[in-house]
Amino acid sequence: MLNKTAVERMEEILRLMEREARKKGAPVFEAERKSASSPFKILVFTMLSARTKDETTMNAVERLFAVADTPAKIASLPLHTLQSLLYGVGFYRQKAKNLKALAAIVAKKGVPRTLKGLVALPGVGRKTANIVLARAFGKTALGVDVHVHRISNRLGIVATKKPEETEKALIKLLKPSLIKNLNRIFVAFGQTVCLPKAPLCSQCPVFAYCWRVGVDV
Ligand code: SF4
Repeated sequence: MLNKTAVERMEEILRLMEREARKKGAPVFEAERKSASSPFKILVFTMLSARTKDETTMNAVERLFAVADTPAKIASLPLHTLQSLLYGVGFYRQKAKNLKALAAIVAKKGVPRTLKGLVALPGVGRKTANIVLARAFGKTALGVDVHVHRISNRLGIVATKKPEETEKALIKLLKPSLIKNLNRIFVAFGQTVCLPKAPLCSQCPVFAYCWRVGVDV
């Protein structure tokens, strides 16, 4: 059994979540504002942000773009320079290698606009590709990260074990216009209210719609 009410009221739930997360200064919105200028910047930010706090990723992206602000310039940076610019980001050594290779490809061909094209780039998985498709190109794509997976299950709109299952279930359940914005809003809400270990349920604006599956409060 799933939480049908939450599915039906998802438009309102997203609106309430976004308003609260903005009030609380969710880092993802600041990162979004700073990287919104180009699909390449969104791609770089998203690939670097895996297992890294958004603030740390944004600082690294700003350092990087202050030195090299195009794919060609990034591709031509020595690897050790790239690694020191990305220092602090999780797995920065491997990500620097991937970024150098990715930038060389994008310098020649541009940022791919398809899932297939994006996942063919070094260091870009399905989650990153879907986030880029939605944020950079406004496509109906859903990147399911830990926040999206966790919050969807807590709300009771899915009952899934793996992010890939969550992606399929949500795409089946929700309207395309909601899917596009779901990642950014759930991430922001997961950073500020529906926290991984101790969700702030008593302050939650969608408490009335949430089944709080697996939440011990
Ligand atoms: S009520 Fe609690 S578990 Fe449900 S969305 Fe709000 S913070 Fe998360």
